[in-house]
Amino acid sequence: MSKKSLRFNSKTIHGGQMPDAAYGAVMPPIYQTSTYAQSTPGGHKGYEYSRSGNPTRAALEASLASIENGKYGLAFASGLAAMDAVIKLLNPGDEVVSTNDLYGGSYRLFKQIFEKYGIKFHFIGMQDAAAIEAKINTNTKLIWVETPTNPMMNVIDVKAVSAVAKKHGLLLAVDNTFATPYLQRPLDLGADIVMHSATKYLGGHSDIVVGALVVKDEALADKLFFIQNASGAVCGPMDSFLTLRGIKTLHVRMERHCENGKAIAEYLQKHPKIEKVYWPGFEDHPNHDVAKTQMKGFGGMISFITKGSSYEDAIRIVEKLEVFTLAESLGGVESLAGHPASMTHASIPKEEREKSGVVDALIRLSVGIEDVNDLIADLEQAIS
Ligand SMILES: *Cc1c(COP(=O)(O)O)cnc(C)c1O
Repeated sequence: MSKKSLRFNSKTIHGGQMPDAAYGAVMPPIYQTSTYAQSTPGGHKGYEYSRSGNPTRAALEASLASIENGKYGLAFASGLAAMDAVIKLLNPGDEVVSTNDLYGGSYRLFKQIFEKYGIKFHFIGMQDAAAIEAKINTNTKLIWVETPTNPMMNVIDVKAVSAVAKKHGLLLAVDNTFATPYLQRPLDLGADIVMHSATKYLGGHSDIVVGALVVKDEALADKLFFIQNASGAVCGPMDSFLTLRGIKTLHVRMERHCENGKAIAEYLQKHPKIEKVYWPGFEDHPNHDVAKTQMKGFGGMISFITKGSSYEDAIRIVEKLEVFTLAESLGGVESLAGHPASMTHASIPKEEREKSGVVDALIRLSVGIEDVNDLIADLEQAIS
């Protein structure tokens, strides 16, 4: 069987991969080098300088392209460096319509870095794709979508947003960090660019900071490769190797994240001390139908609020957890708990934050792949 027609659970392992040319190494060696010997000026074996290209990074980039059903993958030093490269496609005067409830660092990059250069950002709820059209004008160039949203777990219909983007000739970029290509593949749904913080589920072991972009269109890929090389925020060879290693078990890990996520969401929803649980797998979640068609499962990210909704209760619970670690980040094998208002979303002004539901009492869980009974027992002792 040709490697071209592999199913997802094989692509994570084989997609774009070949034994190394030198000795047949099954995993690509970590080419820890900045430069490559030339026989005559310009006479090289495909690599000249590791900002422009590195064989370990190239192996990761091929894997990324394969698992997202794209053609070109680009690996960056962080998720934000990958986003930075996308916004650098734009010019002063251009406008972007973005999801309002998004990763705090993404908001900070847009507002505090790129607005200075004359790019304008509109932040809106995108659960109703029609609402996007009201913000589109002749300067609009890009729609930025994050789904499921962080930390409110709203689900945005990528196909519907893509129809709006196509109608107005706009680029559509989707931050696929939370879902991963195991759960949803935005390029198949009409997006032009997929972005990842590979720091999270793709790497999966909380041991790297890496970003990724995947596209299908060659001209768009060329522009992004130019920016990647010209700005220089590339992923190093060691981190490329670790990300590639993480991707090989993505499908197995995601299956367990989904299983444990479901059990914990259901446990929390029945708990007498819990007011509200945000998880797209519930039938009464406002975007459940979209989630069901767009995603293969509902993932391991859950947010909740305790009865009484007090800031102090939220802090007490996250401090009392023992198996869950109180930490920033998500998507690793270990379960993490966070308090968005004071941690991941502290860079968003309070009124802006609360408009999208990120209240002081909100707790966010990244459910790991431990024994779910231990996770539930830990939540029980912390909440009760
Ligand atoms: C973490 C994260 C980012 C930023 O990625 P870094 O790798 O931390 O730079 C962007 N989007 C989402 C959804 C994230 O969770």
